[in-house]
Amino acid sequence: MIDKNFIAGEWREGAESIANVNPSDLDDVIGQYAQADKSDLDLALDAAAGAQQDWAQTGLEQRYDVLMAVGQELMRRAEELGTELAREEGKTKAEGRGEVYRSGQFFTYYAAEVLRQIGDSADSVRAGVEVEVRREPMGVVALITPWNFPMATAAWKIAPALAFGNGVIWKPANLTPATAVHLTEIISRQDIPDGLFNLVMGSGSTIGDALVGSSQIDAVSFTGSLASGHKIASRAISNLTKIQLEMGSKNGLYVDDEADLDVAVGCAINGAFFGTGQKCTASSRLIVHHAVHDLFVENMVRATKALRVGHALHEDTQIGPVVDENQFEQNEYYLNLGQSEGAELACGGERLELECRGHYMSPALLVNSDNAMRINREEIFGPIACVIKADSYEHGLALVNDTEFGLTSGIITRSLSKATHFKRNAKTGCVMVNLPTAGTDYHVPFGGRKNSSYGSREQGSYAKEFYTQVKTTYIRAET
Ligand code: NAD
Repeated sequence: MIDKNFIAGEWREGAESIANVNPSDLDDVIGQYAQADKSDLDLALDAAAGAQQDWAQTGLEQRYDVLMAVGQELMRRAEELGTELAREEGKTKAEGRGEVYRSGQFFTYYAAEVLRQIGDSADSVRAGVEVEVRREPMGVVALITPWNFPMATAAWKIAPALAFGNGVIWKPANLTPATAVHLTEIISRQDIPDGLFNLVMGSGSTIGDALVGSSQIDAVSFTGSLASGHKIASRAISNLTKIQLEMGSKNGLYVDDEADLDVAVGCAINGAFFGTGQKCTASSRLIVHHAVHDLFVENMVRATKALRVGHALHEDTQIGPVVDENQFEQNEYYLNLGQSEGAELACGGERLELECRGHYMSPALLVNSDNAMRINREEIFGPIACVIKADSYEHGLALVNDTEFGLTSGIITRSLSKATHFKRNAKTGCVMVNLPTAGTDYHVPFGGRKNSSYGSREQGSYAKEFYTQVKTTYIRAET
């Protein structure tokens, strides 16, 4: 059986299909998933344009009900759908369950946002004239998502898109189609106009590129790599389409000489290796004050070696497999590159042969690295962290900021003055104090600076900047 695309209110076969393989067990083929072609996309674009007009006219309570129902079902089925997510992506079952539950929270949060759409009114500078400022939907939005948080990234785009009255064409990553079909199936059962929500699966270079290049799209929200973000930006700009890009990073966690080292190691392990290090918020650079450097490294090596790598669905697994062979080879490439650049492999980085054939890599710590090395400049996106020694707090902060990226950063310290200085001077969109660089809330803005993000923020009430456009109306009261 082939899982289908959802277009114009119907599940539709694709001209081709791809196999979805479990990275924990390469003999487990989860299913075959349809690939949309240009004619499917055209159908989706036409249907979305019509349905969006109807959706924008619906009462707010209907929108609220739809979003609330989707959110509550996701939370109720977090165990089941989280297990399926972990099976295809390779994060642990607990991480999969947490992601689905969080996705539900995005929907219930934006259900409430539906009812907070209140505009402004003002007196004109001219006598007898009133001014009204209100937000209207953008229209039809293209949502393009990565494989590493296949449901959460989608939920934090789809929920505000629908809440603010838009039609949606969603193109998920080809590595995680099952999660996309599950979420779509839930949305498809709601009381929405046919064609309002469309799932088009396929590769980025074909269907993704055609979607971004369509003049029928009013806005594109993308999460993925910097390289894809560049392509999408230049494609969308030819139509002057509004864009929002969330991309990679090279987040620095600074461990101060006044740090609690247990907290430091706990945060570093969590930030660097959980989710198999495949997070845009991962602590890939561990920047450590020289006074605590050797002890931190010793404790970190011990904690890293103790991590249990295994099948994503086994209860005692802490680190699942790498998502696929391409990513595995990229990790190996950077491990070799780092050592040729002069860094030292303190532990890990091995291909593990476990009971199932899977892409298992032991978490790796590279030490004696410096910030100019490519391993500290380019996103690796695997269970690999690099330690850099800092001469002082000021030097540590400078190293944290010395990167083309700027999504998250962190400081571990007991000093209030250094924590305060750091939070004010870190050039990142999110700053963590005595917390891992990964792990954010859903009711506040999320995004980065420099090459990590482009456009307005996602999440919380800030999402309305992207999903709406402002209209200013002047009314002469007396004629
Ligand atoms: P990717 O860029 O390869 O793909 C992301 C999505 O874009 C996929 O759906 C893909 O098919 C599509 N795509 C690729 N090229 C396209 C094109 N030319 N036109 C249209 N669509 C295209 O990224 P990935 O490997 O799936 O995900 C990993 C990357 O995502 C990492 O760089 C990670 O840091 C980033 N990420 C960022 C955030 C964030 O919020 N900043 C969150 C999660 C992941």
